[in-house]
Amino acid sequence: LLGTLLLPFTGLHAQRATPSPAAVEQRVTALLGQMTLEEKVGQLVQYSGRELTGPASNRKTDLLNSIRSGQVGSMLNVKGVADTRAIQAEALKSRLHIPLLFALDVIHGYQTVFPVPLGEAASWDLDAIRLSAHVAAKEAAASGIHWTFAPMVDVGRDARWGRVMEGAGEDTYLGSQIAKARVLGFQGEKLGGTDAVMACAKHFAAYGAALAGRDYNAVDMSEQQLWETYLPPFKAAADAGAATFMNSFNALNGVPATASSHLQRDILKGQWNYQGFVVSDWGSIREMVPWGFAPTVADAAQKAMTAGNDMDMENDAYGPHLAQLVQSGQVPVALVDDAVRRVLRKKFELGLFDDPYKFSDAKRERNVLRDPQHLVAARDVARKSMVLLKNENRLLPLGQQRTIAVIGPLGKSKRDLAGGWTVIADTAHIVSAFEGLTQRAGKKARLLYAKGCEITGDSRTGFAQAVETAKAADVVVLCVGESWDMSGEAKSRADIHLPGVQEELFQALKATGKPIVAVVMGGRPLIFNTMADQADAILYAWFPGSEGGHALADVLFGDYNPSGKLPSSFPRSVGQLPLSYQQYNTGRPVTKPTDITYKSAYIDELNTPRYAFGHGLSYTTFRYANLKLSQPTMRPSETVQVQFTLTNTGSVAGEEVVQLYLRDLVSSVVRPVKELKDFRKVMLKPGQSQTISFTINQDKLAFYNSQLQWTAEPGDFRLMIGSASNDIRLESKLVLAP
Ligand code: BGC
Repeated sequence: LLGTLLLPFTGLHAQRATPSPAAVEQRVTALLGQMTLEEKVGQLVQYSGRELTGPASNRKTDLLNSIRSGQVGSMLNVKGVADTRAIQAEALKSRLHIPLLFALDVIHGYQTVFPVPLGEAASWDLDAIRLSAHVAAKEAAASGIHWTFAPMVDVGRDARWGRVMEGAGEDTYLGSQIAKARVLGFQGEKLGGTDAVMACAKHFAAYGAALAGRDYNAVDMSEQQLWETYLPPFKAAADAGAATFMNSFNALNGVPATASSHLQRDILKGQWNYQGFVVSDWGSIREMVPWGFAPTVADAAQKAMTAGNDMDMENDAYGPHLAQLVQSGQVPVALVDDAVRRVLRKKFELGLFDDPYKFSDAKRERNVLRDPQHLVAARDVARKSMVLLKNENRLLPLGQQRTIAVIGPLGKSKRDLAGGWTVIADTAHIVSAFEGLTQRAGKKARLLYAKGCEITGDSRTGFAQAVETAKAADVVVLCVGESWDMSGEAKSRADIHLPGVQEELFQALKATGKPIVAVVMGGRPLIFNTMADQADAILYAWFPGSEGGHALADVLFGDYNPSGKLPSSFPRSVGQLPLSYQQYNTGRPVTKPTDITYKSAYIDELNTPRYAFGHGLSYTTFRYANLKLSQPTMRPSETVQVQFTLTNTGSVAGEEVVQLYLRDLVSSVVRPVKELKDFRKVMLKPGQSQTISFTINQDKLAFYNSQLQWTAEPGDFRLMIGSASNDIRLESKLVLAP
């Protein structure tokens, strides 16, 4: 089944004959030549269609009139063949018949829900991630959508920030690989495919570094940090062909990103020669007023356009003000022309002028949405994304237990498993943990259930029944975590402990002496120190999507051997945040956890995370051996082959994510103790060995020096290969000669 789904990757699927770039430019130029200033501005305006499809309002009539007169270039939040076709038909009544672009936040699936993006990142499986984006695009395209506001490629190192859920975690290298996989998954190799939508790399830039993890907050950051940590996933998305970028709500070094010429004109459209267009974030132009950066929305519009923001999403800034700004000489018309050109170019490349409905019809929509094959893919990605954090005495996989107590507020929940940013029409199809486990257990085991407590709140009245239920069982599967709406946009939390009395529930169950498997769901790293110390096994399941319960059963019963690895460090205390494995040794390194006197340490907490970046257990074990470098010293133009043997030393087949880290030992700018530079996900049968090789070139040794030049400095490097950032199995020195 997955084989057929993967077919589109090979380019064998129906692809419209895409016009050459030169032909597109000709058509754009010809059309631009016929446009009035008002029509040009119209192409740069995007409105939400909630008002159009909801109850009638003044806005509805106004918007429809604007659409008919060519004053709107794109709509967001209109979906489904019926609505998109009806509204497109209105746009086609405009003088130049320019079709609308329909945009939507298709973040992790459309009607088939995949795990939240941070969960998918934990799979470290680029093909699976690409497939997930492809399936989402296929369903959304069949529903009349042309453009998704995804992927979010913001690096996030502060789990208080609720939007870590939408990204790929803390690491720049992993994040860049995933950014590319997602862009290709959504778009295909080239725009215009019938099963594809345009991608949007967001939020440009440094939004993930919001001060104190508070959403929309300001960011102050060195250029080095910006270039080294936060920009590479954007560059990777641009290189993969991301058709659009979205700027961000934060101010960066004092300038709202939407008004940043540095980001949008110098870096993106200048140094990177980016040909796509930039859309504002929702209202981010007019937000320059409360920021105190612009006195009026008109001035904000002038600043945004000057800085390279092409399209206005729900600001009412360009629509009412841009033409006037051009007429009064405050905005050169050439800037408007360039922005319109960028938008029209994408409409031509998508094929909208050839078929403004993009082959969307009700029958195709019915057939494609939640196609059984899509559910198969969602289940596969979900089980690949689950991370086995702990497994004492090999409690997992389950097998012999005759009675299983599913306990906890997430045990029978469906809605929560979908996570945030979903556009599903119904939640009934979602497979809960209880349903998935019951189906899998069949006649072999009896399933009991008790809720125990709510996710939030402090009522313990359900504890007694939960304890009785546990006593009647051989094993407890405790399903706890966040609710779906506790992470995502505007869901910053100052306290990221497991909410409510869930850990107390755990303690009450622990007192029964029954073995406990904790299944934790959430959109971010959570803190649960008591459970981490005392649970027998812990599986981090994120928000696993439509097939969550099935995927969970696959993992808990051992039909699938867990292979996920954390894409983010899990802290012990909120006070450790922001947290990343990319620590510095400092001038006062902690060499022994017990000796912290005048060291770079906390007096009340360890420096180490509870669970490290890259950590994740398996039901089998792997041996790393025979590290060999093709040469111990390389010159800048040379490459070194790094080889070692990986062996599955356990008794079941399994996948290991082998991770390559480097450290530059002495350099003109101090470097972190470890930086991920490569990884491989390898499947091995019991007893099987495989030679793994990585190539080290100059690029892998480079960093931004104080002049912002990407350079590798001669000297010694430490090369580390391991199973997690805190589980290095092989080490070697590598020398870069001058
Ligand atoms: C979010 C974006 C999203 C947009 C449109 C904004 O509030 O920051 O990520 O794409 O809304 O829904």
